[in-house]
Amino acid sequence: MIRTLLFIAGVGLLVAGAVWLAEHPGRAGLEWQGWRIDTSVAFLALCVALGAALIAVLYRFWHALLGAPGSFIANRRQARRERGYRALTQGMVAVAAGDADEAQRQARRADSLLGDPPLTMLLSAQSAQLNGDEAAARSYFTAMLERQETAFLGLRGLLMQAQREGNEAEALRLARRAYELRPRTPWVLTTLFDLQVRQERWRESLPVLEEAVRRGAMAGEEARRRRAVVLLGCSMEAEEAGDRASAVTYAKRASSLLPDFLPATLRHIQLAVEGGRKRPAARMLHNAWSRTPHPELARLYAAMEDSDDPLKKARRFERLLSHNPDHPESHVALAEALLEARIWGAARSHLETAAGKAPSARICRLMAELEERENGDMAAVRKWLLRAAGAEPDSAWICSACGAASAAWTPRCARCHALGTLEWRAPDRARGLVLRPVASAPALSAADADDVTEDGEAASETPGDGAVRQHP
Ligand SMILES: [Zn+2]
Repeated sequence: MIRTLLFIAGVGLLVAGAVWLAEHPGRAGLEWQGWRIDTSVAFLALCVALGAALIAVLYRFWHALLGAPGSFIANRRQARRERGYRALTQGMVAVAAGDADEAQRQARRADSLLGDPPLTMLLSAQSAQLNGDEAAARSYFTAMLERQETAFLGLRGLLMQAQREGNEAEALRLARRAYELRPRTPWVLTTLFDLQVRQERWRESLPVLEEAVRRGAMAGEEARRRRAVVLLGCSMEAEEAGDRASAVTYAKRASSLLPDFLPATLRHIQLAVEGGRKRPAARMLHNAWSRTPHPELARLYAAMEDSDDPLKKARRFERLLSHNPDHPESHVALAEALLEARIWGAARSHLETAAGKAPSARICRLMAELEERENGDMAAVRKWLLRAAGAEPDSAWICSACGAASAAWTPRCARCHALGTLEWRAPDRARGLVLRPVASAPALSAADADDVTEDGEAASETPGDGAVRQHP
């Protein structure tokens, strides 16, 4: 638009000049070296204008001639860069497609065309990995650490290598460095947390977990549960280090974060009992018993009693029963105390109340103990022990991920190492049989029998069982 206006203005000026010259005619003369030129002023003006235009054209041509080699080199360089970027792109596509040879070829091409190591190093490292050359990949990743702009990518590569090789100490060291570089990156937070948990560095992992929750890398109920589990891990770690005060604080934080999380309640009460804080411990225990009665709570309750008088203990368990009178666990706990106090009739009556129609293995064993100690009736003992073998298995801490049973709660499953998967329930008896293909199980083979024994053993590793052994 502006150009058009300028053009029109120029043409207007020219026309005005020509008209003015036509209206004001005149002559111009020039004498030089014996030559004489006579002409009109208008023609002279035209000649001057043409001369100026010719000089302008010649100047431009000369300028272009001088700049030609420079622009030729610039164009060549531009084309080279474009080919380099194309090779880089094709190399990345080849890495994604798993084409090792093509990736390596393009990596070499991009490297020679671009001559820019930070850009091509990642591709070179990835193509080396595709070719199974982990040593070459490691040297590329290590070289990337030296430049600020590629250090993080290099760390990531080395970290993944260390994880694949199962070198957890090295992986943790690299993850810590990545965390220093980018403390807010979600995958750094979750990777570092997982590695810390695997090595049970609970107190170190807690701030990382909290940051991961803040960054949205973990959310909801799962994040709360994980935090409670890690807090209990912190409590155990602090206790091992001899720092009882911190152990109590961590346990308290865990149980107020998830009031219905039984392991947190148990640990909080246990630390209070061990610390001699019996009154608050008893209050917490009564509270917990009214919600989730548990054999471990009963054991802690028994440990709170200073007196060795079994009668006194039995009376205490009567009080405990009053906090949850309908729950079978209340009757079992009281029956155990009565057995110890040799009050057979009441013990029998409470065991019968707890047993209902289908007594659990633990109740059958207690009945056997009662028959032996009260009457010495070995036939009845045998009958109850047989019944125990076929009864509903005892509850234990069962891993929801792999099904392994454990006698005590731990933050991680001892078998599959999953975090916070142990829950108090009866093991799945039929699991081993259901998973077996129908065709290969015509009858109960030796292998099946082994399986059953294994299950039986797993089920018997319960605190309930331990309690029986404590009262022979
Ligand atoms: Zn497990």
